[in-house]
Amino acid sequence: MTERFDLVVIGGGINGAAVARDAAGRGLSVLLAEANDYAGATSSASSKLIHGGIRYLEQYEFRLVRESLRERETLMAIAPHLVFPLEFLVPITQGQPRPAWMVRLGLFLYDVLSGRRLLAKSGRVPRPEWNRVPRLKQERLKAILHYPDCWTDDARLTLETLLDARKRGADIRNYRPVTRIAAKTDGFDVTYREDGRPVTVHARFVVNAGGPFATDVMRKVEGMAAPARKLRLVRGSHIVLPMPAPVEHRAFTLQNDDKRVVFVIPWMERFLIVGTTDVPHEEAAAKPRCTDAERDYLLDCYHRFFDHRVGPEDVLWSWSGIRPLVDDGEDNPSKVTREYELVTARRGKGALVSIYGGKITTHRKLGELVMAELRGLGADMGPSWTRESPIHGGEMSREALAALAEQGPEEIPLETRRRWVFTYGAETRTLYEMLRQEPALARPIGIVPEAELVHAVTVEDARTAEDFLYRRTKVFMLMDQDGIDAVNAWFAQRRNPAGP
Ligand SMILES: Cc1cc2nc3c(=O)[nH]c(=O)nc-3n(C[C@H](O)[C@H](O)[C@H](O)COP(=O)(O)OP(=O)(O)OC[C@H]3O[C@@H](n4cnc5c(N)ncnc54)[C@H](O)[C@@H]3O)c2cc1C
Repeated sequence: MTERFDLVVIGGGINGAAVARDAAGRGLSVLLAEANDYAGATSSASSKLIHGGIRYLEQYEFRLVRESLRERETLMAIAPHLVFPLEFLVPITQGQPRPAWMVRLGLFLYDVLSGRRLLAKSGRVPRPEWNRVPRLKQERLKAILHYPDCWTDDARLTLETLLDARKRGADIRNYRPVTRIAAKTDGFDVTYREDGRPVTVHARFVVNAGGPFATDVMRKVEGMAAPARKLRLVRGSHIVLPMPAPVEHRAFTLQNDDKRVVFVIPWMERFLIVGTTDVPHEEAAAKPRCTDAERDYLLDCYHRFFDHRVGPEDVLWSWSGIRPLVDDGEDNPSKVTREYELVTARRGKGALVSIYGGKITTHRKLGELVMAELRGLGADMGPSWTRESPIHGGEMSREALAALAEQGPEEIPLETRRRWVFTYGAETRTLYEMLRQEPALARPIGIVPEAELVHAVTVEDARTAEDFLYRRTKVFMLMDQDGIDAVNAWFAQRRNPAGP
């Protein structure tokens, strides 16, 4: 018999995750199908900022900036293990496209719109402190401004949101590509592939959260006219450099000569992330990668501001993602609107709602908006609830998490326990309990205790070493090739225990 749900969500990026979580918490029966790994597309490839987007003020996107700014403190509260405040410095040099007064005005607006309670106010760095900012070129410097935003691990935030949806009863599945959405009189028959076999379920409502693939998802609709909004696909790349001594814990917002903004963000105390670019990307199916031209553009911008020479050979890693932006007819990819939009196609008592656009920062609000849309279409559901409830792993304060790291099992190095609490949050207790019951799981695979790999597979649905190394964690940045090979071998052995 065909299994029935109130709602099927297509896509396990941050937006699909937010919709599934919100809906499950309101009592709807939910299935989410993700074609590859959770957060395998754009939601692991962002700049990882929970931010208002200061430069969107220039495009008069006040609604979006205000909503995003207000989400910062909400997300800090519901995901304290994953969302952290980060101070940004904005060096202003002679002849830059935006003078100090203009940036100051933007930051003033940023403060006003933010409704901030926890985050600090923006301001100026006093002149005597300028030369204490390591490596920042002092010649032509006219001012240094500062403002707060937040930082996150985008892939983990997506995963924890999905695990939270599962905790509330949603059926969450990765590696299940949806191949057909057949309109029926009372909703939709949705077919996805599971280990090569087709499985069909029925739902009154379907949410298309395909991100850059949202228009491709619409091509799978049969039996009704389903209007699709045109998307502008804009690639953005980042490079990772080693953090030179002394360590600078603040980030930088650099104004490049082409008027674009480039961020330099400290990462894990050991690295610097420099990004991003804005390049038209033709095909969502074409895997994005950082081209040499994008890398050189980012290095040039970095050298314009810092006395620290780095070459292409110093780039430790790079990543690229595709922004699924609503096509507003704007020629310049940097200026295409960052607003999101819902498009609804009704079918009898059911409906297919497609999400176009949407940022990591606004995912929770977008979830609420989709719920309001479904309620308007007749879905019977509870009231909004996500503003106050911690996501999976988010039940402990940062102070309590720091203490939890200190109290962990001695056979696990303190550095690993500290990494765990700011990766898994309160769920670290599950890892400790696994080790108490089976001490042999402390065995290191590379630098990763085996318990962590078992947890990734059994609790977090990791299928491959890549799922674990690049999305469940970013531990590959701390490992040598032998360690990475050991994790690969562990997954291969688990998939095929009888193998050579
Ligand atoms: C370079 C860059 C920097 C960014 N920086 C920031 C930032 O700092 N802060 C911020 O807030 N936002 C940022 N963003 C925006 C943000 O990352 C994205 O808007 C957001 O991740 C989109 O999420 P999504 O869930 O809509 O799409 P995705 O994460 O792409 O998820 C869509 C999912 O749908 C799945 N899917 C597609 N077709 C099917 C199918 N047939 N069946 C099942 N599943 C399917 C895909 O596999 C994919 O996993 C940035 C984006 C980019 C590209």
